[in-house]
Amino acid sequence: MSTPKAVYSLEDLEALAQSPLDPPVKLAVIGHPVAHSRSPDMHNAALRAAGIDSQYIRVDLTEDQLPQALQTFAALGFTGVNVTIPHKGAVIPLLDQVDPLAARIGSVNTIVFDHEQGTKAGFNSDAPGFRQAIRDEFAVDVQDLRVLLLGAGGGAGRAAAIQCANDHCDRLVLVNRTLEKAQALVKELQPDFGPRRLAGPLARLEAIPWDPDLLTRALDHIDLIVNCTNIGMKAADSALLTASQLQPHHLVYDMIYAPPRTRLIEAAEAAGARAANGLSMLICQGAISFEYWFNRRPSIDAMKRGLRGGE
Ligand code: NAP
Repeated sequence: MSTPKAVYSLEDLEALAQSPLDPPVKLAVIGHPVAHSRSPDMHNAALRAAGIDSQYIRVDLTEDQLPQALQTFAALGFTGVNVTIPHKGAVIPLLDQVDPLAARIGSVNTIVFDHEQGTKAGFNSDAPGFRQAIRDEFAVDVQDLRVLLLGAGGGAGRAAAIQCANDHCDRLVLVNRTLEKAQALVKELQPDFGPRRLAGPLARLEAIPWDPDLLTRALDHIDLIVNCTNIGMKAADSALLTASQLQPHHLVYDMIYAPPRTRLIEAAEAAGARAANGLSMLICQGAISFEYWFNRRPSIDAMKRGLRGGE
């Protein structure tokens, strides 16, 4: 077995045609930067557990390298690729097919190569990965919840909002530092929130400014609170919500998984609420990508062990 590099460049990738690794490299995550990605840890563990003779690497690419890189992946017989920041939108025009959910979000994080047809198709596993993570963590479906998204104007927030809209959740409240982005999303999602289920005098879909008093009032009519911002990743980050704003009936999902216990999670637990971090979303979106590539479910236990560094 050959040891892969921590991060490959486009040149390194092209060199794999002459000097293949063992097991052969057939999967990758592409981004810029990409060194932080935990995807190889969980996917390589899942590949080994499934007895699939392939390995998964990280490739750092700039946007102008994407067309060449996609050709190289196809020439190397790649099964698929994950796409991370900042290329999730930029890959779309380079694909032959884009699944309707990925097209609606405007974001592809999974590419599947069909070598018989000579085509590449794009999918989004972040949105269904979010939905599955909520089900796994709290044993409830987003369709039955009143959901508040903090950071609805970012990429992850948009994916979560569109999944909630597709599932016709009971109520969706979008909060974003730049209010205009949340307002634009409300306009876009309005057709999904018709009068099918009424929430009394409350709007089923609305954007509210990032104001502590307005937020506290809004939280009276919310079941699930999701942090889709970057706030909480650094030790110096302020708490997004305080324990006094949260209530025991709240479910709090922080998309951040490093650190595992953010100040939001601490505040939720202090308020007697249930809380979970974003590790389950990382695993769920990875498992959905794996299914797109291999048409079978990966071992979730192996993925968890891989992330813990146990495999
Ligand atoms: P992004 O596109 O850059 O969006 C960042 C969001 O955070 C925007 O809504 C932004 O608001 C908001 N924000 C940033 N700094 C802020 C501040 N100081 N005050 C208030 N709001 C602030 O990033 P992303 O890709 O959506 O990722 C967001 C988070 O989700 C990251 O922590 C990422 O690690 C996590 N994530 C986790 C998973 C998983 O599998 N667990 C998957 C995807 C993402 P503005 O619009 O006003 O700038």
